[in-house]
Amino acid sequence: MTEDAALLSCCGLRKTFGKDAGLVRAVDGVDLDVAAGETVAIMGPSGCGKSTLLHLLGGLDRPSGGEVRLAGSRVDQMSERALARLRQDSVGFVFQAFHLMDELTAVENVELPALLAGRPARVARQRATGLIERVGLAERAGFMPAALSGGQRQRVAIARALAGEPLVILADEPTGNLDSAATLEVLRLFESLHAAGQTLVVVTHDSRIAATAPSGPWPTWTGGHEQAPAGRPAGGA
Ligand code: ADP
Ligand code: MG
Repeated sequence: MTEDAALLSCCGLRKTFGKDAGLVRAVDGVDLDVAAGETVAIMGPSGCGKSTLLHLLGGLDRPSGGEVRLAGSRVDQMSERALARLRQDSVGFVFQAFHLMDELTAVENVELPALLAGRPARVARQRATGLIERVGLAERAGFMPAALSGGQRQRVAIARALAGEPLVILADEPTGNLDSAATLEVLRLFESLHAAGQTLVVVTHDSRIAATAPSGPWPTWTGGHEQAPAGRPAGGA
């Protein structure tokens, strides 16, 4: 794939933490291209830098070196204000621990980003209701997160991530807290998003997830060991 074709890409991406004897090369020279509409799995053992890489790709953290591009814009060079806008408008994050607001209902969690972005309440609610339906939870729109199963909570979190119509969804071990039935639920949802053309980057340490997708195995990027065979073990958690 040429660089122009990539919706999301990074080149020579590095992130270090600490210094001297405590230096950790969490991400060490990663090149990655994700085309529009592609679903890519990022795999590798715990501590190999998957979360750090995802944070750098989505503008949650700044790299120590290298470039990140999303839709032609240099994420690594953005001001704080531009990064905030990027996270609001262009990137949808999904986390292992869901990170829903416990005191809000499912549909309120989904409409919150639009309300914070200043959208009219009626528009935000209408869109959130549509998204709750899209993730198969229409009957549970008014439920509190505590009354939902893990798989249902993660589907609410995915609906919330979709609220801003992001260019890309970045998911960090989205099935890591789920049993196998709920894992399947979430995978089916990702597959339907993929079928609808959503660009997805999914971090997982479970090889079955990337390998068993109904649409065929997801292209997989594994841990960056090619670039950093020596630095990786020292950086391992
Ligand atoms: P993974 O998600 O693959 O388990 P992480 O990206 O969380 O790996 O972490 C990669 C390495 O960077 C680990 O050694 C971890 O301890 C270290 N690390 C991650 N975040 C920080 C931080 N904020 N401060 C110091 N070290 C960190
Ligand atoms: Mg992680």
